[in-house]
Amino acid sequence: MPVRSKDNFLVFGAPRIEQDEIDEVVASMKTGWLGTGPKVARFEADFAAYVGGRHAAACNSCTAALHLSLVALGLKPGDEVITTPLTFCASVNAIIHAGCTPVLADVDPVTQNIDPDRIREKITDRTRAILPVHFAGRPCDMDGIMALADEFGLKVVEDCAHAIETTYKGRHAGTFGDFGCFSFYVTKNVCTGEGGMIIAHDEADIKNVKILGLHGMSADAWKRFSDEGYKHYAVVHAGFKYNMMDIQAAIGIHQLKRVEDYFVRRCEIWDTYQEAFKDMAVGTPAPEEPGTRHARHLYTLMVDPVYSGIDRDQLLMRLTKEGIGAGVHYLAVPEHPYYQERFGWKLEDTPHAVALGRQTISLPLSAKLTDEDVADVIKAVKLSLED
Ligand SMILES: *Cc1c(COP(=O)(O)O)cnc(C)c1O
Repeated sequence: MPVRSKDNFLVFGAPRIEQDEIDEVVASMKTGWLGTGPKVARFEADFAAYVGGRHAAACNSCTAALHLSLVALGLKPGDEVITTPLTFCASVNAIIHAGCTPVLADVDPVTQNIDPDRIREKITDRTRAILPVHFAGRPCDMDGIMALADEFGLKVVEDCAHAIETTYKGRHAGTFGDFGCFSFYVTKNVCTGEGGMIIAHDEADIKNVKILGLHGMSADAWKRFSDEGYKHYAVVHAGFKYNMMDIQAAIGIHQLKRVEDYFVRRCEIWDTYQEAFKDMAVGTPAPEEPGTRHARHLYTLMVDPVYSGIDRDQLLMRLTKEGIGAGVHYLAVPEHPYYQERFGWKLEDTPHAVALGRQTISLPLSAKLTDEDVADVIKAVKLSLED
């Protein structure tokens, strides 16, 4: 008998959705204003307030947010942007679509975040920006990264897809760089189905990304069909179609109200996992650094075949058999054929990320999980390791 039957499979990353979101979406449908409108404006204001008084622009994904941010920086073909090899392909693809060349700097094996010493080694006279990713919700070494940015005159775009609640020395992730980019994909800490947000210090930067993200049409073009009467617009860039819909914002407004409650729940689950796994033959996440808040987005175990007796893919398979969904965040970027062929990236150039990518497995950590779900995950891991 598996821990959970097939029809009771515990889906990895299932979102917690409550009645308020459902009612707000229905209300949007009834008003007929489905596209970008007043709810998007409210979600932007709420989000800016949450991260601490910044300006915000909602878009339809974090991938779009990253792309728009890099375009808004005015980077040119051949410009190099340094990022981490332990990330989702979207971080790297955004750099490529902005016309730039991605350059990888290996991670610190303990924090699993990009290592400023490795960044320094990769800086050339073509380097223009750094794109750090706050992996799993743990803040990067922002003092180290911003010091390099100052020293070499580099821009910084923070990939905060995992890091809505993350703080570093009292400041929210995303408020250090020129732009901070967040994701509201289904599995993320706040979800809108699909969705993203860009934050910036400077209101003019946010106005610019809003124009770029809506076809390059001049300011407030989303209002052109409103009750204020038709407004002409001028196209000032060859822009993109990256705007968020009110239906998405309707979900986000209520999700964001509960962001701290959900965080508390994920902390409980995290602590339960840490306690349960500390005596098992697996690696567990390092404690958070003093003066930081880890957003508890991903709970990852490290499965070293020599130490654990099985490899990561075997554990994945056994957990699936036990009715538990798990994830892999991430196979290191240089493992993928496209990047190998285009950039000639070699696995030995970023050894820590490659080793971590082959050993890491993410367990369910949604605020939706019940105590029973959490107990089932622990039981399934234990059985799988003993098998
Ligand atoms: C999810 C994710 C993205 C992309 O977010 P979308 O909203 O799905 O586009 C980018 N970077 C990282 C690290 C992610 O986890």
